[in-house]
Amino acid sequence: MPDLTTGVRYIKGVGEQKAKSLEKLGIQTLRDLIAYFPRAYEDRRTVKKIRELEDGESACVEAMVADPPVSQRVRGSRAELVKVRAVDGSGSLYVTFFNQPYMKNSLQAGEAYTFFGKAEASGRRRMMVNPLVEREGARALTGRIVPVYPLTAGVSQLLLSRAVAQGLDACADILPDPLPEEIRREHQLCSTDYAYRQIHFPGGDEELEVARRRLAFEELFLLAIGLKKLRGRREEFTCQPFACTDISDFYAALPFPLTDAQRRTIGEILADLAGGRPMNRLVQGDVGSGKTMVAAAAMVCAVRNGRQAALMAPTEILAEQHCRGLTPLLEKLGISCALLTGAMPAKARRAVLAEVESGGAQVVIGTHALISADVRYRDLGLVVTDEQHRFGVAQRSALSAKGERPHLLVMSATPIPRTLALIIYGDLDVSIIDQLPPGRQRIRTACRSGEGRTRIYRFMDQEIAAGGQAYVICSMVEENDAVPDDRKAVTAYASMLQEQIFPHLRVACVHGRMKPKEKDAVMTAFSAGEIHILVSTTVVEVGVDVPNANLMVIEDADRFGLSQLHQLRGRVGRGSRQSYCILISDNRSEEAQARLKIMVQTGDGFQIAEEDLRLRGPGDFFGRRQHGLPALKVADLSCNMALLKEAQQAAAGLLERDPDLEAHPITAQRVEELFQSSGGAMN
Ligand code: ADP
Ligand code: MG
Repeated sequence: MPDLTTGVRYIKGVGEQKAKSLEKLGIQTLRDLIAYFPRAYEDRRTVKKIRELEDGESACVEAMVADPPVSQRVRGSRAELVKVRAVDGSGSLYVTFFNQPYMKNSLQAGEAYTFFGKAEASGRRRMMVNPLVEREGARALTGRIVPVYPLTAGVSQLLLSRAVAQGLDACADILPDPLPEEIRREHQLCSTDYAYRQIHFPGGDEELEVARRRLAFEELFLLAIGLKKLRGRREEFTCQPFACTDISDFYAALPFPLTDAQRRTIGEILADLAGGRPMNRLVQGDVGSGKTMVAAAAMVCAVRNGRQAALMAPTEILAEQHCRGLTPLLEKLGISCALLTGAMPAKARRAVLAEVESGGAQVVIGTHALISADVRYRDLGLVVTDEQHRFGVAQRSALSAKGERPHLLVMSATPIPRTLALIIYGDLDVSIIDQLPPGRQRIRTACRSGEGRTRIYRFMDQEIAAGGQAYVICSMVEENDAVPDDRKAVTAYASMLQEQIFPHLRVACVHGRMKPKEKDAVMTAFSAGEIHILVSTTVVEVGVDVPNANLMVIEDADRFGLSQLHQLRGRVGRGSRQSYCILISDNRSEEAQARLKIMVQTGDGFQIAEEDLRLRGPGDFFGRRQHGLPALKVADLSCNMALLKEAQQAAAGLLERDPDLEAHPITAQRVEELFQSSGGAMN
């Protein structure tokens, strides 16, 4: 008897070679196989009479093969054709198969088949090239909704769907259900067996929806349990409370008064630090809301209590920027800082490592280098990570492991609506800096159609003549490649602008395929004002700071997510010049227009995120993978706030009844697995 851990070789038609190919898709066992969900579906349910077929339409035809198939060689080539005519009561269908010589013998005159393919119609003649064929009534390939799987070399759709069908048959009765019966009943969720079958081979749209709802609920439920357990374990830890939380000299040393939101957040942090449990707090604040000062306050407090603090940034540039910004302030308070990055020469690095180990460096700022094996801290009491979406949970815990359960402060500039943050960051406490320092100018934003380009270019010209600089953002053409090629779009657009529109200005471009050195060189020149117009894709999204740039033009703006547009727009409005953002879009659909209108109306990242959530649902936030959570397979496509809340409540309810999941071993095991696949977050 097979079980879920049985290897895929068990499946008929899967030999050693195919098993190897399947392994590339992460499929080794029957369990992997049936959990390999389709990325899309093709609806092959439309059945037509031959005469009714329209040109270009994909449909099924049930017809009788009229004459024995004939094969032909294509003149001057080795290709072989098989031609056959099929008839139903309405007319004849002329079918051609290329390079499928076996069709000659597999189709019999006088037998009925179902053909599925794209019809060509000219006059009264109806044709199909390389249609799928099966005996009428077989309904394996035709007459139904069929799954479309992500593939790899050596694995075809047909192989996969046949293998999955067998896998489902083998596993049907032994699929354990991680959802307790009472929860399944209360939330009206279908059985696992049904869900797995329908997600692969849906009987119809409603059945598919029922299956998705169940599987999405399951994922969110397991996620919520995992996060709650993480939090629970953490709350059992204790640590020496920070005795001194008076940092009034820090306030006094600041060149500006803090905003109310900054003060409130610092208050929450200091309370954590004095609380006797390791802090695990997320600070969310829009770009420019002043998160660095909040981090500085926490670090000062750590040092005042005789401990070291580390600040980890996602890039060298950001680490250096933090170091330059914070060192003068901290030194004024008698606190010594050190910078540690991967790019440092060995000798300098050794010197810094010695300082870190002796405790001479009280605050250490750096990149991933902060968690390399050879870095030893004398007494790490606080870890701050900046722009946390770039760090997974695993990296966060690697850094924490450097001290005796240090306090952890995570900072993020990606606004996530509070309702969602409480769920996504279930294991963290959340503070929100929902206020910008005074005096920030608003970026004037407008939405235009492509017809307005001439006027937009004229406006760019004026602004640049007055001393400004501009970004032009092209959207990336979606391709199947893992790394989309943005080079072509960007370079072509840049040379068009240079040659045809702005011959008197300097236009340059950056794209994802450039070497970091080349990119840096262009950015440095832009920063120095030697380049007037910078054309790029979203590579400028984070970390770039050119205060003199005051104009951003975004092409095909409707193709970007709202939060992404917001991040992009944040590249301007950093200096004293009035700044502008022009969104170009020819998409007249109501939804696209509504989304862009939000950008025009508000500059508040949280409001924009709320609207994004309202318009597109929470799946998008899960899909972005910026949060270091385990990947969700179904929930990122089909979940809504209501389902999310239901799953959340169900998880809380279960943990209340059975805190250690002793009576629910299957649930416990699945939670463990979910988090393991993301790098051991459960420890
Ligand atoms: P972010 O939240 O994006 O990390 P920063 O911490 O880099 O923002 O702060 C952006 C700018 O605002 C910095 O130049 C910082 O010195 C300044 N700033 C921070 N807090 C205040 C404040 N309360 N009043 C005025 N300027 C502030
Ligand atoms: Mg910052």
